Amino acid sequence: MIDATHDARRRSFIESANGHPDFPIQNLPFGIYSKRGERPRGGIAIGDEIFDLKIASEAGLLSGEAKRAAEAASGPRLNGLFALGAGPRAALRARLADLLDAAGAERRQVEAMRPLLLSRATDCELHLPARIGNFTDFYAGIHHATNSGRLLRPDNPLLPNYKHIPVAYHGRASSIRVSGTEVHRPNGQRKPQAATEPDFGPCRYLDYELEMGVWIGPGNALGAPIPVGAARDHIAGFSLLNDWSARDIQAWEYQPLGPFLAKNFATTVSPWVVTPEALAPFRVAQPPRPEGDPRPLDYLMDAADQLTGAFDIALEASIVTAAMRASGAAPHRLAASNARHLYWTVAQMIAHHTCGGCNLETGDLIGTGTISAPDGVGSMLELTRGGREPATLPSGETRRFLDDGDEVIFRAYAKRDGFAQIGFGACRGRVVG
Ligand code: MN
Repeated sequence: MIDATHDARRRSFIESANGHPDFPIQNLPFGIYSKRGERPRGGIAIGDEIFDLKIASEAGLLSGEAKRAAEAASGPRLNGLFALGAGPRAALRARLADLLDAAGAERRQVEAMRPLLLSRATDCELHLPARIGNFTDFYAGIHHATNSGRLLRPDNPLLPNYKHIPVAYHGRASSIRVSGTEVHRPNGQRKPQAATEPDFGPCRYLDYELEMGVWIGPGNALGAPIPVGAARDHIAGFSLLNDWSARDIQAWEYQPLGPFLAKNFATTVSPWVVTPEALAPFRVAQPPRPEGDPRPLDYLMDAADQLTGAFDIALEASIVTAAMRASGAAPHRLAASNARHLYWTVAQMIAHHTCGGCNLETGDLIGTGTISAPDGVGSMLELTRGGREPATLPSGETRRFLDDGDEVIFRAYAKRDGFAQIGFGACRGRVVG
């Protein structure tokens, strides 16, 4: 639903918000932050600052549903807010847009409280947005599935189930960390093709996966599937997600039950939860399936979801090596992609996840799968064709996979004519040995 909160003419009295690539007044994403020596609590990103929800609520700036939502976001996790669903969340968004508006009726009152209500983001630490009970990672990026399948099966890259089932694996919630957390190169069993026996040691083929993360809002009861047409009501918001992957460990362990140690050592998410409300202008139709592809089974098909269930969100992955950092070089963009390249909508993923009765819980995290494009890939595996064709960086360095000291940075932006651009902030992780 497009409403006054999306009006591109709106400006904030917080100057850094106006024209901000990520956090103008039209975005207002939720996150958990803390100032030095204080407890983590809920806030909203606005320009280069963070607006405190607990203080706003206690100061009497909020009422009704908006106050209920802010109170649910006043603690160290956003699960309470996520559980409330769209109504209170949208009411809080509308109220915050008015409070932060340069032409807002209460501007003077809010400005007078600015030292209490607002903090510079650079003075704050950001935390995981929610307590994550479960993490499921899909495989819905068809270009990634095709590119990586081709490395194993040149003539038949996609397995027969791919166009019928939103394929996924159950991941590990305990090792999910917020952007900025170092990623330790995992040890594990490796068996190069030429070797007859495996050995144990550090992963040699460490990789990233460019994905979107989906935060679950209200859950469903065990045995009560979420119909595809109702799945939207269960989404609390979106972040960026890096599904770090140890390709050599994966190649040896993945048959017959799928990834295990290759993916359970670290997953990074960006700290800000961009709401479905903020993304409303950037919904697009799910691209039509190519001629000859099967029609999904009925439980995965909903007319409204097909019309507006995809998102036009530009994605990019960049790298900064230790040498680049030492010389002050800017991050080098490895690839650009777009969330439109997902073969399944998020609603289809949720409907499939729950169709057998599995219960999703508030705060659960779903990964979309690596999102590659026809002209941009979301992993080193694809970029270097399994390590066979090293990539050369502007620094002159080459990479088959990630080296210690390499930092991987994801960013994402939603743009549409007539609307303010919004972004997700960075999803960063540096590899350490
Ligand atoms: Mn993945």
